[in-house]
Amino acid sequence: MAMNQKISDLTAAGEQVYHLGFGEARFPVHPKILAAFHAHATERSYSPVIGLPELRANVADYYKRKFNIQAVPNRVMIGAGSKSLLYAAMAALEGDVLLPVPSWVSYDTHAYLTGKQVTWVDTRPEDNYCLTAEGLEAGLKLARANGQSPRIIVLNSPSNPTGAMIPPQMMADLMVVAKREDLVIISDEIYAETAYGDIPHASPAHYYPERTIITGGLSKHLSLGGWRLGVAIIPNNDFGAELYRYMTSIASNIWTTASAPIQYAAIVAYSNDPDLDEYVKICTTINGYVTGYLYDTLTESGVPCAVAAGGFYVYPNFAPWREVLAAKHDVHTSQDLANFLLAENHLATLPGSDFGAKPSDLTLRLATSYLYALTEAEAENLLTVYQQNLPREEFLRQACPNVVATCESFKSLVAGLKK
Ligand code: PLP
Repeated sequence: MAMNQKISDLTAAGEQVYHLGFGEARFPVHPKILAAFHAHATERSYSPVIGLPELRANVADYYKRKFNIQAVPNRVMIGAGSKSLLYAAMAALEGDVLLPVPSWVSYDTHAYLTGKQVTWVDTRPEDNYCLTAEGLEAGLKLARANGQSPRIIVLNSPSNPTGAMIPPQMMADLMVVAKREDLVIISDEIYAETAYGDIPHASPAHYYPERTIITGGLSKHLSLGGWRLGVAIIPNNDFGAELYRYMTSIASNIWTTASAPIQYAAIVAYSNDPDLDEYVKICTTINGYVTGYLYDTLTESGVPCAVAAGGFYVYPNFAPWREVLAAKHDVHTSQDLANFLLAENHLATLPGSDFGAKPSDLTLRLATSYLYALTEAEAENLLTVYQQNLPREEFLRQACPNVVATCESFKSLVAGLKK
């Protein structure tokens, strides 16, 4: 909020601010999904708590087809965004929670709200800040030494805040430990379809389906965050049956059901439609141009970053300039660094410490999605310019010049630190 106030003040003073603070996809609503929404605007009755049967059937097929997940419709739950389902899963499960450092902000709060203790588990820049099997073992040991009873781990690949993905072998090794320890995995796969690199998407459910809960939804790859439609895929076994019952009870008492017109639109979004597949591919390619360009600019300037492969995020680490930042600019923490970047370069970012990283780490989360389009017209223009098949940099110069300007600003920042 403090950052937003500073951004508003600068903007009101006529200054250009490069907004890397929010991760919200900005592409237009696909016409077929929009038509389905319009056609069902008069659907005003409560729908089943778990979601419309046709939607649950489509979601199960979709996860089988796209991700090779053995989902069944009567273990698919529809929610008001995946956040509600993440919360319900956390509330329904027993035991304490392990979270890799860094992790998205809400998992920690969900654990707190449901009376669970959290152990933050260290990761290493060399592993792209992904949790390894050894890291998980160390985290379990630490949690138990602190008197906790760790039973749940939340994984998120591609990751918000790092943009990194857990490669298949690392996931397989991690799941050997998870299975041996009988842990439950909450696998937040909301960014799965925004992966633009060549790392294949690995779900814990590929290796340990009996205890993996997957969450996803329409917010990211279809830019429909405000429509609030999420999905959860629960294991098809006795454990899953009981969990499904608990989660249904929580949903029934808290949000009742997802919005009916949106569920009808989601039936189309989860149908087997090559037009929609193509659309998601284009949006993902554009996101890859933008996010990849920022990542390349930073790494070519010598700033270490997690290898960005999905989502809208780049996670640079300014530790190589720790001394100069402290001596010349009074920057000692990632929050100081974010404040400094906003004041000096008008770059609005979030500190890694907001995501559980040590304040002294000097990491930042950069979100690219507000850079490429803010208005509907800018979002449409991205798609129009994309049709010209331009090389990446030319595309960015024409369709989203703010991205290029942001990268120039980062370059001059780093050049100044090197002096
Ligand atoms: N998980 C992560 C990692 C996110 O970044 C977000 C949204 O920012 C969500 C979940 C929530 O998504 P939804 O819109 O489905 O609630």
